[in-house]
Amino acid sequence: MKREACGSLRGKDAGRRVTLAGWVHRLRDLGGLTFVDLRDASGIVQLVFRDLPAARKLSREDVIRIQGSVARREAPNPDLPTGEVEVVVERLEVLSRSKPLPFPVDADEPRASEETRLRFRFLDLRREKMQRNLRLRHKVSLAIRNYLNGQGFIEVETPYLTRSTPEGARDFLVPARLEPGKFYALPQSPQLFKQTLVISGVERYFQIVRCFRDEDLRADRQPEFTQLDLEMGFLEDPDELFSVIEGLVAHIFREAIGVELDVPFPRIPYAEAMLRYGTDKPDLRFGMEIADLSDLFRDCDFRVFTGAVAEGGVVRALPVPGAAGKSRSELKKLEERAKGLSLGGLAWAKFTPEGVNSPIAKFTSEELLRKAAEEAGAGKGDLLLLAAGPAEAAAEALGTLRLELAHELGLIRENAWALAWITDFPLFKLDEEGRIASEHHPFTSPHPDDIPLLETEPLKVRARSYDLVIDGVEIASGSIRIHRRDLQERIFNLLGLSEQEARKKFGFLLRALEYGAPPHGGIAFGLDRLVMMLAGESSIREVIAFPKTASGTCLLTGAPAEVDPGQLAELPLEVKPD
Ligand code: ASP
Repeated sequence: MKREACGSLRGKDAGRRVTLAGWVHRLRDLGGLTFVDLRDASGIVQLVFRDLPAARKLSREDVIRIQGSVARREAPNPDLPTGEVEVVVERLEVLSRSKPLPFPVDADEPRASEETRLRFRFLDLRREKMQRNLRLRHKVSLAIRNYLNGQGFIEVETPYLTRSTPEGARDFLVPARLEPGKFYALPQSPQLFKQTLVISGVERYFQIVRCFRDEDLRADRQPEFTQLDLEMGFLEDPDELFSVIEGLVAHIFREAIGVELDVPFPRIPYAEAMLRYGTDKPDLRFGMEIADLSDLFRDCDFRVFTGAVAEGGVVRALPVPGAAGKSRSELKKLEERAKGLSLGGLAWAKFTPEGVNSPIAKFTSEELLRKAAEEAGAGKGDLLLLAAGPAEAAAEALGTLRLELAHELGLIRENAWALAWITDFPLFKLDEEGRIASEHHPFTSPHPDDIPLLETEPLKVRARSYDLVIDGVEIASGSIRIHRRDLQERIFNLLGLSEQEARKKFGFLLRALEYGAPPHGGIAFGLDRLVMMLAGESSIREVIAFPKTASGTCLLTGAPAEVDPGQLAELPLEVKPD
């Protein structure tokens, strides 16, 4: 359509005749004079209608085309890029009418329930903030493609109709009409294809790709979500990948939001993260590091502590800056909270100018508590929380309290962008039935030093895996892979997969590993979450054009839906009535 961009008009255009088209964003009718804010993708400009009766019949979100002359405004609007001018309309043509709106689209904050917004997503997306989010997402994708292209990566598409790719979730299945009784699985990730690609000679692969995981409802999960998936051949050491990814992430931040990140990002082994922060996704925007004081309290007179240590457990301390003023009832609440976090109890010590104040001082001695404070980095005015018990329980509870208290005390700066690599995760975990399961996925390489422990102490084996964490959120995860068939078979074996099963499920990978597979490794980013963080949003649904609800329905289209009996008969499938 022959038209100019509404958002492009400036003072220098005064006097020009223009044709514009767009939506009626806002409308003010002052009798003989009607003002309309006209909006298209480029922005908004003010129109003035003088004695044009048709203008008085316009409604919000009608689509119109106008011809008119640009004039300087008597009272410029400094909040609008086009605020110096307005367009005096000579001709008006209504291209399409809008019904009365279920909610206004000119407000920054939504004025409707999320359900209504999703049902009328075509209106919700017209809101400036949603347009901004879509554009930001596009910028991130573009930055990724440009940067990786410059580093010699190529984007290769992998199939959506495929076999199961295990990432620990349930598969979405698609019945195969041409082979009745058989099913495709939608990929949980392109893991096996990207490894195959590297073995095929694509040394640097990436893909911005949809993944599908049929998980039970958890807040802010989508059954289909987008990954930036990446794999590199001839990679032996995670550090080689880290520097590529650090360059990429720095580029994304620069291009998308104009932030310069410090590289390299700190590297923290998993065991150290669990000890110092009580979690494998530490929020490093603030201090409050947990200290292990088991040795200090091993021989004191406080039986709760000595008992825990004697049983192989730990005593750990969390310094809480400036919290020595907490009242008895506030501390009581903290103790209750700790109980809710599977800790038997929580001890505390306040360090005030008057001295140490703690109900356990009479057992441990003030002197010991002062030493504890020193080791944990707590000073005057601070509170020290002490937990005893099994290492995992103490870590988890203090990790949770660390976060909650930092929020409560206002210690967390929003978007301070604290990035870190967490490395050397355990290779295995125990699943709900107490069986050995992969912590990441079964293609992850064990740490070379720990290979001798595989059969004897599998839970002690470290993986050559890593996560990238931003502000306490896991944003990417990957590993060096197994590139030798014998080791891959050994791992399948440990996971309780018979040779036959392994061949049936992953035969093509095993075969490929026999024909010259270079050492390789990679990573995948949760792109929705990354864009969400860059946009300063708190839900990924705000950065996905057409998201599903928490229960997996698309309120716009009504998916999932029943299908025609004829379609089922063709598959052939039958739905049991109940
Ligand atoms: N496929 C893995 C995932 O989706 C990522 C990777 O190992 O590269 O988590």
